[in-house]
Amino acid sequence: MTNREAYERDCNELEQYHKIGTVEECREAVEKQKAKKCIIDSCPDHTHYKCPSCGKIHLSRYKHGIPSLGRIPRFCDHCGQAIAENWREWKNDIYHTVQRRRNSND
Ligand SMILES: [Zn+2]
Repeated sequence: MTNREAYERDCNELEQYHKIGTVEECREAVEKQKAKKCIIDSCPDHTHYKCPSCGKIHLSRYKHGIPSLGRIPRFCDHCGQAIAENWREWKNDIYHTVQRRRNSND
């Protein structure tokens, strides 16, 4: 499913919720339209960027030579959550990884 399709699906769902859904269901759909940043889960070997809503891992960065796996989508392909960019955290993470590699090569 493309981002556009996911977006349109969510818009349609939202419209349906407005027509027939409960207040709770409606609120949930509205929440998913608000872009949220990924949850960043770090350990010594890797950093995972997870969906803030369902926890699906979208991107994994490994600290020992292996390049990143995956990418952060505009909308979660699992639950449809709109995802905001984590550019600041992302740059920080790359910066620290480069620093660490430099230090370990000395
Ligand atoms: Zn999700």
